[in-house]
Amino acid sequence: MQLFELKERSFQLGEVVVRGLCRWLRHVHPSPASAQLVCRSSVPECTTRPGRYVGGARTLTGMSYEVERSNDEWRAVLNPQEFHILRQAGTEPAFTGALNDEWRAGEYVCRGCGNALFRAQTKFDAGCGWPSFWEPLRAESVEHLEDNSLGMRRVEVRCARCGGHLGHVFPDGYGTPTGNRYCMNSASLEFVPDDDE
Ligand SMILES: [Zn+2]
Repeated sequence: MQLFELKERSFQLGEVVVRGLCRWLRHVHPSPASAQLVCRSSVPECTTRPGRYVGGARTLTGMSYEVERSNDEWRAVLNPQEFHILRQAGTEPAFTGALNDEWRAGEYVCRGCGNALFRAQTKFDAGCGWPSFWEPLRAESVEHLEDNSLGMRRVEVRCARCGGHLGHVFPDGYGTPTGNRYCMNSASLEFVPDDDE
């Protein structure tokens, strides 16, 4: 019994330490790389659909999405970088994406299938080098999948219409209405300005 209480206290102490570390990281070193490892409390719940996520290989399987194409068909409509990111869950280097500094009013759609994903009003400057949003346009626009690659537990974000990899979501959207940061690849998105009709 005493041992149990001791363990329980150790656990609680550990939780306090982790929370404190989490707050400290946000203040002194607000870089996504350090914060994402410990601040995971408010990310959306992951959907569990067997077959869609293949750990390690990170390739898409033939599960049904509204938009389905073979790899050859995807290669025909995407450039090599877009194919690597959208279809092989790649990541563009930080601060290289075309949409990182895009601040006009408009909508961000999936580069693979045109699915409306984010509104410009929810984009914010996270300083991380990738376009960041605090929430998707509609909850059903994206799907969240647990991603245990690279020795981390992260939440991957995919387009719900074609399964294209968009990026990850982290609970470190400092000062935003949701506290979340949808950290997206520019190459996965296409910006449609409001006056482009
Ligand atoms: Zn899509």
